[in-house]
Order: sequence, then structure tokens, then C-alpha cells
Amino acid sequence: MDPTTEIALRIGAFAVVFAAMAAWEIAAPRRPLTAGRKPRWPSNLGIVVVDAVLVRLIIPVAAVGVALMAAERGWGLFNLLGVPPWPAGIAGFLLLDLAIFAQHVVFHHVPVLWRLHRMHHADLDIDVTTGVRFHPIEILLSLLIRIAAVLALGVPALAVLAFEVTLNATSMFNHSNVAVPERIDRVLRWLVVTPDMHRVHHSIERRETDSNFGFNLPWWDRLFGTYRPVPAAGYLGMTIGIPLFRDARELRLDRLLTQPFRNDQTAADRERAGATSRGAGSERPTSVGSVKPS
Ligand SMILES: [Zn+2]
Ligand SMILES: [Zn+2]
Repeated sequence: MDPTTEIALRIGAFAVVFAAMAAWEIAAPRRPLTAGRKPRWPSNLGIVVVDAVLVRLIIPVAAVGVALMAAERGWGLFNLLGVPPWPAGIAGFLLLDLAIFAQHVVFHHVPVLWRLHRMHHADLDIDVTTGVRFHPIEILLSLLIRIAAVLALGVPALAVLAFEVTLNATSMFNHSNVAVPERIDRVLRWLVVTPDMHRVHHSIERRETDSNFGFNLPWWDRLFGTYRPVPAAGYLGMTIGIPLFRDARELRLDRLLTQPFRNDQTAADRERAGATSRGAGSERPTSVGSVKPS
């Protein structure tokens, strides 16, 4: 596949899934939004542009490029063993998903990495744009981990491309604020991480934040005992976000970028103590609290 087709495929898939989920959110929202779209969407979409530009500048070679190079030179487990393309592609897809799952668990449990990842969790609502809201340093580290996995395994380039396009689409799907009928959700969450399943992961309650780590395939959480079916406060009563950064101005793009580097002791103490409001930026009384739906 030539590079132009590949880029068109990536952007096309992103645009179609984004538009579909945004329309679905308007037609059938799951929860009323706390902060709304207006203060969040420009920043959440702005960070995608920052991420794309920085990744391109710092690591110009993509995971697909590395996969092509590995195939050419016979690098990686599958190439060394001469595994045919289809089994290598399927195994590669599954193992890349497992690697992303493991990376997500590590980013929750290593304090310096949590500083990067918690920006994703600091969104006061979750909707389709939260699915692409990641700090550029986390995106860079994530790409390096993916490249290392592709090199070690020798994953075929097409499987890498399919994995990246699928992960982008499922991330937008399972972050979206859409109402999926319960009986459909119950079946669907055996095949893919559903919006309700991932919503538990965005709960302000730390034990719920540290569950449902999957972004794409739902099996790893069940296999490793991190699956939590419902939030204690219910899908409508739960509070989205983290105790830190609950001020409305923390939704600004410049604040998103600096969140990993800001963590005053008091705020950290409050986070550990499980306080539910008034984080680091408490200078202005504009904290957004929990949703109390009728
Ligand atoms: Zn997380
Ligand atoms: Zn998430």
C-alpha cells in the first residue's frame, strides 16, 4: 500500500467514526454532560494536532514502516520462525493489543507515568473527544513501545496498520457518551470494550479507575482480574474525572499540556485522601462537581 492511500485510510476512518459517534451522542446521549462540549472540544481536538505534529517531528518512522523493515531483513520472532502472513497477522494483532493493555496498567501504577496518563482521566466528561485526548509524551512513549513490540515479534505491516486503525476507532467508540441498550451492551462487551465498560475506568473512585484497562479487546481485563462490570454509584450517579484538576480552566489546551508537571503537595495529599472536589487550581470557585441526574 502506498503512503498516500495509507494516510487517506487513517484519516478517512478517523473522520467517519468521529462523525458517527458525535451524531449518536447528540441523538442518544448516555449521561448529561457536566462541563459540556464548548470548553472541552477545542482542547481535546487541539491536543490531537499537537500529538500528530510532535510525533512526526520526533519519531518520523511509523510502526508500519518498522514492520516493513523487519519483514525485509527477517527480524522478529514471526519472521525468524517463518510464520505465514495470516497467522502472524492475527497473533500480531492480539499481542499488540495485549501490549497496549499492559502499558495502560503500568501507566496507572508507576507514579511518573501516571502523571502523564492522568491528563486523559482529568477530563470532566467523557465523550468521543476524550478517546483521542492523550498527553504528547504519553503518545511518544506509546509509539516507542509499539515499535519495540513490532520489531520483537515481526508483526506484518498490514496487521500493524489494521491494529492502529481499529484501536483509534474503538477508542473513540468506547469513550463516546452514547446510550447502548443494556441487552446489547451485555453481549457486545464480550467482543469489544463498550462505552459503559470503559466509563467505569473514568470514575473518580481510584479502585474503579484501576479497572477495565482494555481499549479494544475486552478479554484481558477478565483474564487478569481487573474487570469491573459496573461503577458503585451507577452509570448516571458516578463522577467522571480525578480529584485533581477539577477547575474549569484545567480544560484549556495549555493547562492540559502542563498537567504532568503540576502537582502541589496539598493537591497530591487530597488526591490520596480521595477528596472529590477542588483540586490544584482552586483559586477560582468554578469547580465542576458530580452529576446529579434527575
Ligand atoms: Zn487509564
Ligand atoms: Zn479512557
